[in-house]
Amino acid sequence: MSLVVQKYGGSSVADPARIQKVAGRVAATRRKGHSLVVVVSALGDTTDDLLRLSRQISKNPSRRELDMLMSTGEQISVALLAMALHETGCDAISFTGGQVGIRTDSAYTRARILNINTDRIRRELEKKRVVIVAGFQGVSPQREITTLGRGGSDLTAVALAKALSADACEIYTDVEGIFTTDPRIAKDARKIGRISYEEMLELASSGAQVMQSRSIEVAGKFNIPIHVRSSFSDKQGTWIVKEDRSMEEVLIRGVSLNKSEAKLTVNGLPNRPGVAAAIFRALARDGINVDMIIQNIGKLTDTAISFTVPKGESDHALKSIGALRGRLGFRDVSLDSNIAKVSVVGIGMRSHAGVAAAMFEALGKNRINIEMISTSEIKISCVVKKGDGEKAARILHEEFRLGKKGGR
Ligand code: ADP
Ligand code: ASP
Ligand code: MG
Repeated sequence: MSLVVQKYGGSSVADPARIQKVAGRVAATRRKGHSLVVVVSALGDTTDDLLRLSRQISKNPSRRELDMLMSTGEQISVALLAMALHETGCDAISFTGGQVGIRTDSAYTRARILNINTDRIRRELEKKRVVIVAGFQGVSPQREITTLGRGGSDLTAVALAKALSADACEIYTDVEGIFTTDPRIAKDARKIGRISYEEMLELASSGAQVMQSRSIEVAGKFNIPIHVRSSFSDKQGTWIVKEDRSMEEVLIRGVSLNKSEAKLTVNGLPNRPGVAAAIFRALARDGINVDMIIQNIGKLTDTAISFTVPKGESDHALKSIGALRGRLGFRDVSLDSNIAKVSVVGIGMRSHAGVAAAMFEALGKNRINIEMISTSEIKISCVVKKGDGEKAARILHEEFRLGKKGGR
């Protein structure tokens, strides 16, 4: 008998009918004799709704209280799924993250899992119950409720699969797997059969929300194969696995788009050593995540530095940099929220030249201006105007022949 961890995302449990469908699938897996741990996200857009609600009360709510609020979403869905399973005659019990020993650090809204004490889950599994765990949450050493960052139920599932040495980790969502780009952007996007952890991590961290990037880090570190598949069909989905030779044959695996970052530019910075250090030290101290950075070629006396941060952190970043003005003597800081980042990802890039040239040419030919560029060994990203983002993603998807007509 094997132990299976299944995770169902928000869209898979958006309403009572869908919860009943999930219950049917879980009960069927259970009938096959598998032990089952089921991780569930909040119903539909509940987490966004809760965040909106908090903003009506406070512009800058305490992170502790945000976690207290957001964690309630998943508590609703686990209880409802347990009830739906009871209706099918399947024994099941629901738990919060804290109840099943998911211990995290105290970094509210983006906590890291420290360890999982699996005793309670194992005891319940021995009683032949389906164990349902609230995704996205844990408990800190001070017994405070924490959440694991947006999309964090994926991480709950992967971390439980590791802690329980599960035989399978299945992520059920509203698409049939990982596609060459977001199927909402390109109708001809293709389902990928197998993708390496490294490629999935780059796609996820550059905007493909289908998997949370930290969950892929953990899966890669412990070599846990993940099967991403649809909760609405029985079709094989995408396997996220360790890289193998055959994967290098594909130059570009996918294209991603991120519209949730903003660009800040510090203008009129004195061109002297230590200036960049002062800026990014201040941002780090304030816990602001910086993504791309470019420094303009310095003129004799002054220079400019631009960088991107998640939109939700841009006001905080403005404040943090503004406080340095007296010390550094720069002219001003500007904010541009009207940007999108488009990225192409593939491990084949390591051994092929010319991807950057092809990418820039394709964008140029279509009169899309590139504002920033960054590269890694297997990824090239360009910042463009927000209004050009989807078009840019479609153009690159076509340029690298990733669509159904691409014939790969
Ligand atoms: P869940 O609620 O199941 O966690 P998410 O909304 O977090 O689901 O992720 C699924 C969505 O991710 C899909 O509906 C799809 O629009 C989007 N997505 C973005 N990039 C990709 C991609 N490369 N392949 C598949 N889906 C993608
Ligand atoms: N409900 C949380 C979110 O929307 C966690 C998740 O869905 O994975 O981010
Ligand atoms: Mg998700």
